[in-house]
Amino acid sequence: MKTEFAPDLLTKPDFAESEHVVRTCVHCGFCTATCPTYVLLGDELDSPRGRIYLMKEMLEKNKPADEKTVKHIDRCLSCLSCMSTCPSGVNYMHLVDHARHHIEETYKRPWADRQLRRLLATVLPYPAVFRAALRAGSLGRLFSRVMPEQLRAILAMAPHTVPRASPMDKPQVFPAEGARVARVALMTGCAQQVLQPQINEATIRLLTRHGCDVVVAKGGGCCGALTHHLGMEFESFARANIDAWTREMQAGGLDAVVINASGCGTTVKEYGFTFRADPAYADKAASVSAITKDISEFMTTLGLKPPIVETGQRVAYHSACSLQHGQRVRREPRDLLVAAGFDVADIPESHLCCGSAGTYNLLQPEIAVQLRDRKVANIARTGPDIIAAGNIGCITQIATGTQTPVLHTVELLDWATGGPKPKALERLVRPVSAMPMAESVDVFAET
Ligand code: SF4
Ligand code: SF4
Repeated sequence: MKTEFAPDLLTKPDFAESEHVVRTCVHCGFCTATCPTYVLLGDELDSPRGRIYLMKEMLEKNKPADEKTVKHIDRCLSCLSCMSTCPSGVNYMHLVDHARHHIEETYKRPWADRQLRRLLATVLPYPAVFRAALRAGSLGRLFSRVMPEQLRAILAMAPHTVPRASPMDKPQVFPAEGARVARVALMTGCAQQVLQPQINEATIRLLTRHGCDVVVAKGGGCCGALTHHLGMEFESFARANIDAWTREMQAGGLDAVVINASGCGTTVKEYGFTFRADPAYADKAASVSAITKDISEFMTTLGLKPPIVETGQRVAYHSACSLQHGQRVRREPRDLLVAAGFDVADIPESHLCCGSAGTYNLLQPEIAVQLRDRKVANIARTGPDIIAAGNIGCITQIATGTQTPVLHTVELLDWATGGPKPKALERLVRPVSAMPMAESVDVFAET
């Protein structure tokens, strides 16, 4: 696509990258067919190509964002399905990230919208604050009928009982069982440890059982993705993690930074790009990104021990967008589940987002619910006993639309290789009626 960025703008790294991205796009439109918002809404401006055009117009003239551009960029899930489809290698992620920050700097949203976004940014990344807010949310349900739609959506996502904080999320080292084969840092994150603390616990057991020393590094926390996707400052979160893991690299060495929330993994793998022009952090950030692995990637390199309990349940594996499109990790989780003895089903339209997308389901509830219902219907077609996914956002989103237990992949791998049976499986419920198979296209299915 031809561009007309002013030369002085191109001296700024973000604008230079955006110009490069826009120039790579050849308008072919292949991406529209796999874009969830285009599939639902049928509007060219809600397709990747249409959004690229809007972002080009805004950024090349360094114009303040207008209402139309904000509307269509806000509707983008940042699912990155378009990046998997694009034959020209357009890095839509870098462009839309820049556009979101530009919007945040130049556009004044309506008051209620501003307060909601500020609330999300000041609560979700901080586990103690988020836990307290969820407890208050139980009280808030009493008033949900008189609340605005977005606040009702937030309350609907909140669990009815809030688990206690896990002592395993505190900074410490968990020693390997038997001979040590690796020393890794586990990112314990933010929202996940509040909503489902058993996921980090299962991850630590799985890793130590497979010969890893697992470090929960002092000073680590939220990866920054939540505020990054709101267009807000996120570098301070990233710097804290980079510093924490760099200290561990220097102290005892690290073979990997392991991440079990794929939305976070995509962001941490980009730390090197984020700090490319920052002399104080460029090298450290690149080193962290280079050893960052999703738990399924890392377990694949270690090799899973044979299962020691009878599994065999039918598992519908939901491939989170951040894992399949953001990190291009597609086969590993599925192959690990098969190796653990599960009967893994392929979900139709598996390239389409479930509607979670960070805070998207809270900010765009109407589209998010349509995508969730479509995902749940596609999952039901496979007749699963269990649904597995590698991202807390997807797990929470899908669980609001089904009675079938939704677990993190590591909970199943941990159970199969010697960990406790996940509580959610104690009362397995099969879908009342498996829906008939519909014609579907899975454009990313691998053979
Ligand atoms: S990131 Fe997802 S929603 Fe956004 S344009 Fe690309 S495919 Fe569409
Ligand atoms: S598929 Fe790629 S090159 Fe084609 S319109 Fe979409 S982003 Fe542009």
